Amino acid sequence: MRVVFHEAFHRSDYSEDGYDNAADPGRLMGVMEALRNDGHYGVEQPAPATRADLVRGHGEGYVAAIEGKPRLFAMASLAAGAAMLAGDLAVRGEPMFACVRPPGHHASRASAWGHCTFSNIALALLRLRDAGLISSAFVVDFDLHTGDGTRDVLKGWPAAQVLNPYGDNAEEYLRNLEDRLKGAPQVDILAVSAGFDAYVHDLGRKLSTDNFFTIGRLLQAYAIRLGHQRRFAVLEGGYYLPDLGKNVLAFCRGFE
Ligand SMILES: [Zn+2]
Repeated sequence: MRVVFHEAFHRSDYSEDGYDNAADPGRLMGVMEALRNDGHYGVEQPAPATRADLVRGHGEGYVAAIEGKPRLFAMASLAAGAAMLAGDLAVRGEPMFACVRPPGHHASRASAWGHCTFSNIALALLRLRDAGLISSAFVVDFDLHTGDGTRDVLKGWPAAQVLNPYGDNAEEYLRNLEDRLKGAPQVDILAVSAGFDAYVHDLGRKLSTDNFFTIGRLLQAYAIRLGHQRRFAVLEGGYYLPDLGKNVLAFCRGFE
């Protein structure tokens, strides 16, 4: 398994929203430190998504409006490009994790909220579909919040389904995920919106570090059952910075 990352993602000056905790200074430092210290994850550097890539999932007017905010556009295009690179390598059979910001699962075709700009995962999947490499996909979003943007961008593609597991506590949540994966379709690739804000010390106050390992392992097992094992994950939320690195690492160890 490899990680897609660019040093530019450490910049926190891309957001003009004063309440954007995805843009907190140093937010990805602990994540990359944990992944690098682990020692066996190679790092791939992405290129920004092109305009042609962005308009696969977003309206021309929306893309133009973001272009009017050059720092945000540069960062969000790079995040989309990172998700696309993860998808490109995953479709060849290698599990991938894209460590990016801004996140993407609240970015719809013509609007976005919740610290998101472009629909990173959906753009990666649409690119693979348009290249003729996949015709179906299953998206699992384990962020605390529903991936409404991903659903919006993929809504014209019935063979691309989005699952948001739920449960009042960790046990229920994991059981729900396991049950839903048992009934999940045979698809050409698994894409994962990996958000860590359901963590016990984060907004959701529900999932432990071990639970993130289990989520990764359940998703890995599903990809193995699919036969081709194609899978990639892209970072979404996660705001309790002291433990974000170890939580991402736990997920990656399960998912790889
Ligand atoms: Zn979230």
